[in-house]
Amino acid sequence: MLEDTIIAISTPPGYGGLGIVRLSGPRSLAVAKRIFRPRRGGIAPGKPVFGDLHGPGRGEEFDEAFLTFHKKPRSYTREDVVEISCHGSPVVLEEVVRLGVRAGARPADPGEFTLRAYLNGRLDIIQAEAVNDLIRAASLTQARISFDQLGGSLSKRIGAVRGKLVRLLAGIEAAIEFPDEGLRNVRSVTARKIDELVRDVEALVAGYEAGRPLAEGITLAIAGKTNVGKSTLFNALLGQDRAIVTPYPGTTRDLLRERLVIGDSVFHLVDMAGMGRPAHPVESEGMRRGARQARDADGVLLVIDGSRPAGREDLRLLEKFRKSIIYIIINKIDIARSAGDTGLAGKAAAIPMVPVSALKGTNIDGLKARIHGTFTRSPTLSPAFEGGDEKRSSGQTPYKLRNSCRGIEGLSPSKGKQDDVVLHLRQKLFLEEMLSGLKRSRALQREGHPEEIVAEELRGVLPAVGRLTGEIRAGEVIDDIFGRFCVGK
Ligand code: GDP
Repeated sequence: MLEDTIIAISTPPGYGGLGIVRLSGPRSLAVAKRIFRPRRGGIAPGKPVFGDLHGPGRGEEFDEAFLTFHKKPRSYTREDVVEISCHGSPVVLEEVVRLGVRAGARPADPGEFTLRAYLNGRLDIIQAEAVNDLIRAASLTQARISFDQLGGSLSKRIGAVRGKLVRLLAGIEAAIEFPDEGLRNVRSVTARKIDELVRDVEALVAGYEAGRPLAEGITLAIAGKTNVGKSTLFNALLGQDRAIVTPYPGTTRDLLRERLVIGDSVFHLVDMAGMGRPAHPVESEGMRRGARQARDADGVLLVIDGSRPAGREDLRLLEKFRKSIIYIIINKIDIARSAGDTGLAGKAAAIPMVPVSALKGTNIDGLKARIHGTFTRSPTLSPAFEGGDEKRSSGQTPYKLRNSCRGIEGLSPSKGKQDDVVLHLRQKLFLEEMLSGLKRSRALQREGHPEEIVAEELRGVLPAVGRLTGEIRAGEVIDDIFGRFCVGK
């Protein structure tokens, strides 16, 4: 298959100022020469050459283009690669591919360029996955992590674990083979080293929990009793009329979920059904789902009607979601008699309150900045408004939030902790497999089994490492990963 020369349009479908067709494989240059004629001189590796695209033989010219030849192994795929950069017209780009195929290339499969990079040893599987993640990143933060992994940060950490494991095995085997060589204390050394490996891998698994909200976005649920203005706030944060707002209680019967990008982070905003007494079966189902969402969310915004004193229902919700509430939103400040007379201050303890008017848009940007700051601790957005009281001490940060923050904190490049982040379930599953193997071998050792048995169990961990980085090539894994790419990548 690597003998084929492949061709595909590498820029997205549609019209653009520029479009790129890419070729990879042994006949790349020969194929390109059949459709491209330099205006002057020849084609040298690494230098863009200006010229014309034309039909077969001395055929008619149909566009001008820059051609760049990357000679193997100094290319993305480690094969000869040619990039033709012409006008981004679908007609022109498709014609280049059609002519390329006539000249001996084959249309590339989805992800085939990256697959070749992997098969030729330029990238491991984790890096290949990172290419796709980077292309599809929904936020700059996510892109940054993927870019880091593309550079091999995660692969290096896994490589380090592998190195330790191999050295440990070698040590045990040497002790078994040469029992008199003063390797008597091998048992305690082995125990310590296995424990160390367990900690390393556990840290990587924990990185999945940290990475999940990034890969999927951070879920924020808007809770509050009926008619406090949840839907209005939802719309105000999104800057669009997604939820239906009426003065009649209980209008939001189903859950609404929308993506909200603040700065460089992605959030999923969930508008929950009013949480008072249900008037209709559909409503009670909505409320049940709402409660579940709030429990599963990374954070809850509890909305209170600031124009009236807080009631029993407000307090009940406050208690119910206390652990997850990041802000109490005091809404309707445009009609509030005086700010902060909701009678909630004492009960809220250290949960900060943010006054807004969802209807008038007052302090919505301030709220966004604070949400962003809470989850990313990044100074990208300056707080436009300093309302509420930020008294919550770090000891009282809600559990879930703390979890999410831990991962996200590491995202600002200055902190350099990105490599803790594991973005794929596939990676996490292999890490867990490694972890259980390590723990089993530690248990065997503790129970006093001979070193041979412990070593055997440890050796069993290596295949999981190999599959994780793609050193051991499993066909279905490869198909699955590269099948998710689009053509031309
Ligand atoms: P939900 O049941 O909590 O989703 O509440 P809605 O968003 O449907 O709002 C209920 C009513 O309160 C509607 O008539 C809104 O126009 C009104 N409302 C919402 N936010 C504000 C606000 O900031 N100020 C004022 N004066 N009215 C608001």
